[in-house]
Amino acid sequence: MVTPWGVIEGDVLIVEGRIRAIGKGLPAEGAKVIDATNKLVLPGAVDEHVHMREPGLLHKDDFTHGTMAAAAGGVTTVGEMPNTLPPVKNKEILEEKARLLSSKAYVDFGLWGVLTKGNAADVEEMITAGAVGVKAFLGPTTGNIPPPSNQDMLAALEVSARLWFPIAIHGEDAEIVDYYMRKMKAAGRDDPAVWPEARPPEAEEAAAWLAYSLAKASGGWIHIVHIGAAEVLDALAKAAAEGVNLTGETCPHYLILDIEDYSRYGNAMKVNPPVRGGRHREELMEAVKSGLIEVVASDHAPHAAEEKNRPVWEAASGFSGTQTLYPSMIDLALRGELGIEDVVRLVAESPAKVLGLWPMKGGIMPGADGDIAIVDPRGETVVTEEWFRSRSKITPFMGWKFRGSIEYTILRGIVVYDRGEIVSGPVGKHVKPVRE
Ligand SMILES: [Zn+2]
Repeated sequence: MVTPWGVIEGDVLIVEGRIRAIGKGLPAEGAKVIDATNKLVLPGAVDEHVHMREPGLLHKDDFTHGTMAAAAGGVTTVGEMPNTLPPVKNKEILEEKARLLSSKAYVDFGLWGVLTKGNAADVEEMITAGAVGVKAFLGPTTGNIPPPSNQDMLAALEVSARLWFPIAIHGEDAEIVDYYMRKMKAAGRDDPAVWPEARPPEAEEAAAWLAYSLAKASGGWIHIVHIGAAEVLDALAKAAAEGVNLTGETCPHYLILDIEDYSRYGNAMKVNPPVRGGRHREELMEAVKSGLIEVVASDHAPHAAEEKNRPVWEAASGFSGTQTLYPSMIDLALRGELGIEDVVRLVAESPAKVLGLWPMKGGIMPGADGDIAIVDPRGETVVTEEWFRSRSKITPFMGWKFRGSIEYTILRGIVVYDRGEIVSGPVGKHVKPVRE
């Protein structure tokens, strides 16, 4: 069992949804017992970054299938991003979205608000209404949400400094991206491997340094999500050394896929920022080991097949990832590339802290919610369309085999997923951060 204090052998007793005790030989009288001998008992993953498309984008996917996918992948809490329709730009829309999704959730969920052009004044109300943070899309994205100005960012960051919540940014400089996209198009490139050239690492580097400066000036907290370029690490390191509140997230695809994979998977691996491979992959892996990058999340972003199966310039960016988040990271641990404690820190503990849900979520410890994933380290996860619960079946990992297999996912003591089947109803709840 992986706890915040290390790996131990023993039992977990969950009473009324919460962990009552951990240790050897706990009383099981009257309790449902799951024998996890020779298994890995991990906290449920906290996937801080998902786009489940509801409401408004149901042709891509929906919250029911998205949260079933999460449960089947050992995820017990998701942080749902705000670029649904309408975008979550004020308290009323946030509360309406929470109501709508509550009856459909198979795992617990927090909601991100959006920081867009002109709504900085609405941020405080969204936070006090229970948003886990706000997301700023600095470049074009699904739903075409206008980017906030630096002044909007600073105003929101001052609220962050006061109330302490993350402002998540998509860190690519829009003008640099725009310039190279047009240049590559004009050069007649149309192969999927053009993507990392059309969105060079310097676009991420520029956005990271701007984020560093804004966080430093304001004292607020910026969390750079889906980091794909090694160039971002200098800004994170300088911020860490100086006490500037700049943190980062990366995703399994940046740690696993490489440049030559474009010829195999094509637009299935088209994502923003692009997968770059090589030195980026190696340096990002070092950064998650050292903790310089604190979180690994999926950026789960399903699309309809006809939106993905287009020429590279028109194909949608992103793919369904929440179900492969934990399996792909556990695979790295079972191959010896990361410690299993590293995986738990990156995928459960740190994201729970980012979302303001620690210690309720993200760790196996007394008092925490009984959110558990039980993994057979000798098993195997084969990614097939049948296994994949998202309605959108496109992922570069289709057909892959990961070491280890998730046997049970338990949410607040309720078994949601049992060896291949979703066995509960939609028992997930909207969860709000506790910030003191
Ligand atoms: Zn995203």
